[in-house]
Amino acid sequence: MATVTCQYCKKKFDRNKEPYIQIPHGTQFRYAHGSCYLEAVNGGKEKGNYTIWDPKTSTTCFWCHQAIYPGQADIIEMPQLKGRYVHKKCNEQHPADDKEELIVYLIKLYDLKDDYVLPKFSLQLSDFEKQYNFTYSGMLKSLKYWYEIKKNPVNKNYGLGIIPHIYKQAHDYYYALWMAQQQNKEKNINDYIPKDIEIIIPPPKRQITKRKLFTFLDEEELNGNE
Ligand SMILES: [Zn+2]
Ligand SMILES: [Zn+2]
Repeated sequence: MATVTCQYCKKKFDRNKEPYIQIPHGTQFRYAHGSCYLEAVNGGKEKGNYTIWDPKTSTTCFWCHQAIYPGQADIIEMPQLKGRYVHKKCNEQHPADDKEELIVYLIKLYDLKDDYVLPKFSLQLSDFEKQYNFTYSGMLKSLKYWYEIKKNPVNKNYGLGIIPHIYKQAHDYYYALWMAQQQNKEKNINDYIPKDIEIIIPPPKRQITKRKLFTFLDEEELNGNE
């Protein structure tokens, strides 16, 4: 389902079901029925500049939403999502941030065939961001924790309401993991320092905590960094 409004007859229609034209409008697009457009061309009201896209053979680029044919030379199947097609160039530029990465993950998780639910997801996620100070990478890791590590069944209602309930738990899990890694690193370094040299040279002050810190909660200061 991809509901758009025809620029000629002003009726709403699903461009996944009916032939349509796509009119660039800034970074977005406007739409019209292919039949309404043809009528306008035949009546001399329009020049025949636009391609009429048949949704049976065409699709839209997952990232830029431009209509495309999957067989075209510059079009590839998305490496992350089977059956979704993108411009090669768009694929090099995306996912551009944690939010886009999270959205791709949700499509895979729920095995979504259609993108109509994505605006709802997007709103819900930015609500969590504002209301609870969650980060997008934190929310992504929470879902991975819940479904991949804890192996809970996927909620088919497509609800993201689970996130606030598991965020803290997931954070604690990853934090404990990170702490264990830090301790192991320190241990290994101490084993490596020969004992007789230790007597002459003081143990190195260079501490592991100066390295990349745990970043699950970007907004939190987990250590006295610097
Ligand atoms: Zn129309
Ligand atoms: Zn594109």
